[in-house]
Amino acid sequence: MGPPGAGKGTQAKTLAVKLGLAHISTGDILRQNVAKATQLGAQAKEYMNKGLLVPDELVTKMVKDRLSQPDAAKGFILDGYPRNLKQAESLEAILKELAMGIDFVIDLDVDEKTVIERLSGRLACKGCNANYHIKNMPPKKPMICDNCGGALYQRQDDKEETIKKRLEVYRAESSPLIEHFRKENKLQQVFAGGDPEIVLNKIIELVSHDCHKV
Ligand code: AMP
Repeated sequence: MGPPGAGKGTQAKTLAVKLGLAHISTGDILRQNVAKATQLGAQAKEYMNKGLLVPDELVTKMVKDRLSQPDAAKGFILDGYPRNLKQAESLEAILKELAMGIDFVIDLDVDEKTVIERLSGRLACKGCNANYHIKNMPPKKPMICDNCGGALYQRQDDKEETIKKRLEVYRAESSPLIEHFRKENKLQQVFAGGDPEIVLNKIIELVSHDCHKV
């Protein structure tokens, strides 16, 4: 969890590879649907471009389908879901049905000034969804992904007005989840305003520590 620009995608992708887990990003799946002009993509596009949440029923169905795929059985990192209390309840029901559960919720804690600076310079890869930053994490070749050679682009929702809206939505709808998961004893907060590698190491430390406890 964390506001837009906290580094959820960057951290979740690396962590999933390191821990051998499936990486399930609702934002990535939605963007793939928009790019392929599927029915779901057509329904989601307007909301995404305005910085609003896509309706719960659409996203929850998508998550349920994804979690039912075989690679999720080995464990998964959810990135960008749940985004409100209703989605958290739906997730709990889905996981119960699949005889799975949430081990940890990592909240990436970062101030809004840092987030705005990160999002307004963010570049994403059309091929593999890797993220870069025009100043802080530039690709080796301009506008080309180091990982897959795909073209980099600025996300439609990383424009200034949309960033503001996304932050408002985060404050109003997503931030109450912090208390929700704290009460469930699942929450781990990590300061995410610094170097991504330090953040990653901190997350690994927390997760490994808690894994030993389990
Ligand atoms: P993200 O890549 O996580 O920043 O998500 C980009 C956009 O996709 C969000 O601003 C929403 O419009 C939509 N989205 C992603 N995840 C969700 C979700 N769990 N619920 C509703 N909308 C979502």
